[in-house]
Amino acid sequence: MANTAHIHPAVDAGLKSADPNFGGGTLVCACADKPVKVRIEGQVAHNHACGCTKCWKPAGTHFSIVAVVPHDKVTVLENGDKLQVVDPSALIQRHACKECGVHMYGPVEREHAFQGLDFIHPERFQEGGWAPPGFAAFVSSIIESGVDPGQMDGIRSRLREVGLEPYDCLSPGLMDYVATWVAKKSGALPS
Ligand SMILES: [Zn+2]
Ligand SMILES: [Zn+2]
Repeated sequence: MANTAHIHPAVDAGLKSADPNFGGGTLVCACADKPVKVRIEGQVAHNHACGCTKCWKPAGTHFSIVAVVPHDKVTVLENGDKLQVVDPSALIQRHACKECGVHMYGPVEREHAFQGLDFIHPERFQEGGWAPPGFAAFVSSIIESGVDPGQMDGIRSRLREVGLEPYDCLSPGLMDYVATWVAKKSGALPS
């Protein structure tokens, strides 16, 4: 029997490959009137499906699709007055549209391995060609948003089927990157 576990519309429909000529685009919120528009220069990095409860995701979906870009590649073009930070105490300062709730960009300003990067949701690009997700992070966390734990085997096998290796934190590459930053800061590794 085919595994029909629902992951995210952009995943369920089949991942689209990256356009090598993608030079960036405009993220648009979900408002019909006066949408917030944010310009992103260049391709996104580390795009992944995320099961955490903090990322913005479309209604009825348990995973977000989230990637990073350098902060200096992000420019608010229109209706920035509609943006507000969801949780000022969080590591990621998620700037959401007050009306439709879509998170438009989330800078990391605090001293951290991810400082200088902004988290964005590429599905909000009005253009195609952005790099597709490459793995799934914080998969167990979808239980926190109400998924029956009994569905997890099916969801993990569906993620593997579509090429998104499921991890319950970040991918090993990103976990190593964060740990290396911490070790260099503490002096455990030479900087
Ligand atoms: Zn909006
Ligand atoms: Zn997340």
